[in-house]
Amino acid sequence: MTAGKVFINNKWHEPASGETISVVDPSTGETFTKIARGTKPDVDKAVAAARAAFEGPWSRMAPHERGRLLNKLSEAILAHHEELSQIEARDTGKPMKQARADITVCARYFEFYAGACDKLHGDVIPFKEGYTILALREPHGVTGHIIPWNYPAQMFGRGVAPALAAGNCSVVKPAEDACLSHLRIAELMAEVGFPEGVINVVPGYGREAGAALAEHTGIDHMSFTGSTVTGANVGAAAAKNHIPTTMELGGKSPQVVFADADLDAALPVLANAIIQNAGQTCSAGSRLLVEQSHYEEVIEKLGARFGNLRVGSSQQDLDCGPLIRGGQLDRVLGFLKLAADANVKVAGKGSVDPAAPEGGFYVAPQLLRDVPPNHTLAQDEIFGPVIVAMPFKDEAEAIRMANGTAYGLNCGIWTRDGGRQMRLAKAIRSGQVYINDYGAGGGVELPFGGFKHSGHGREKGFEALYGFTAVKTVAIKHG
Ligand code: NAD
Repeated sequence: MTAGKVFINNKWHEPASGETISVVDPSTGETFTKIARGTKPDVDKAVAAARAAFEGPWSRMAPHERGRLLNKLSEAILAHHEELSQIEARDTGKPMKQARADITVCARYFEFYAGACDKLHGDVIPFKEGYTILALREPHGVTGHIIPWNYPAQMFGRGVAPALAAGNCSVVKPAEDACLSHLRIAELMAEVGFPEGVINVVPGYGREAGAALAEHTGIDHMSFTGSTVTGANVGAAAAKNHIPTTMELGGKSPQVVFADADLDAALPVLANAIIQNAGQTCSAGSRLLVEQSHYEEVIEKLGARFGNLRVGSSQQDLDCGPLIRGGQLDRVLGFLKLAADANVKVAGKGSVDPAAPEGGFYVAPQLLRDVPPNHTLAQDEIFGPVIVAMPFKDEAEAIRMANGTAYGLNCGIWTRDGGRQMRLAKAIRSGQVYINDYGAGGGVELPFGGFKHSGHGREKGFEALYGFTAVKTVAIKHG
């Protein structure tokens, strides 16, 4: 892999700026490599390369041949599993076990969509006598992907695999904080035989390469994952070019525990839903709503679990890794200061392992109790290993509270009552609802996306393929 370059047409190129961005290991705070500071001229080149590939070899390739390439890539990712996991862990700070799981999921995306390439078909619509009506599913053309730093490899697979499977060619602007796995996977794509220009990766700052891609008149679809504020800017730029977008903008997802829940089954899931990836997960279960009668018991037991959680470097491979960067640590510490200022009680707190390297961006996971539902702590995405707990008195209040933020991405419901399970599943405005579980292991097959400020459009599963195609109606009058 070539440090400090952009990847266009299956080759490494110097960025037009001639400059690089330092890459910091979140476990140590030390710079260990550099990436290119891509800017508009690089994005222009990447979009032109993707357009040429789309109008050239990629659109002429039979769907099952595209599928074979995606399968080869999936196999190549698995063949380089440990190498990619080490890259991902160092780049993001995540514990090795999490990095390994992420690379497996990335390979699964390419495997799943490889199988879907030749199964994505349109419709024949019954109409008047003398007509045959076809609804064809066509790729948009060139897709832009702006990706965040929390799950680089997974999100590369989540966006690029369905886009290519549907017949598009892609330009990726990864996050400046963590994108090394993208660059290595792009290189693997060239090695397994993807034609030039099908995938292009331009690292750089959001305000430079990101903005240039978002505004580009040569892209036909934009997928963005990240903050609500940046998402609004990217969406506005795309609107000026009248292109469709998929926006995945995070959440403040509730885990709702009723008195009849199987608490032994729930406790490890409740904890994992917030500490996974140190809470830097769009779908983190970051609000805990518990039926009043069992509130103290749940808080006590979950608090004890939090007390045992340990934080350390990616190589120490403990329960939690560091946050991505100093700025993110400051942001999370800012929320914790707000909690202290409001006299919010800590019901359980993990610890940073004494052997964790100095200079890493570590914060101990915390369970905060009795947080007022309208407080910033209960409304805003903290994006750290902090869960806020609050009691509810009945089903109606649980629904109100679950729906009581600007977000609507994920939701977990813990109850043995079948009727209640379905009432809540229907009443809660959330892109995914889990009953007696949370996340279902990530499932690449399961449509995923938000209501409200969590965004729009759906990723994963067949829904993603539909999003990466436009329907063209062909009406044939044959008499
Ligand atoms: P961000 O939304 O600013 O960055 C996400 C991606 O957008 C990165 O690739 C970035 O380079 C790019 N970007 C930034 N500004 C851009 C612009 N003007 N035009 C085009 N692209 C641009 O997020 P962040 O600053 O890294 O993190 C801030 C907060 O966002 C976090 O604390 C968290 O709450 C949230 N976040 C959510 C997710 C998620 O998965 N939904 C991921 C990352 C961050």
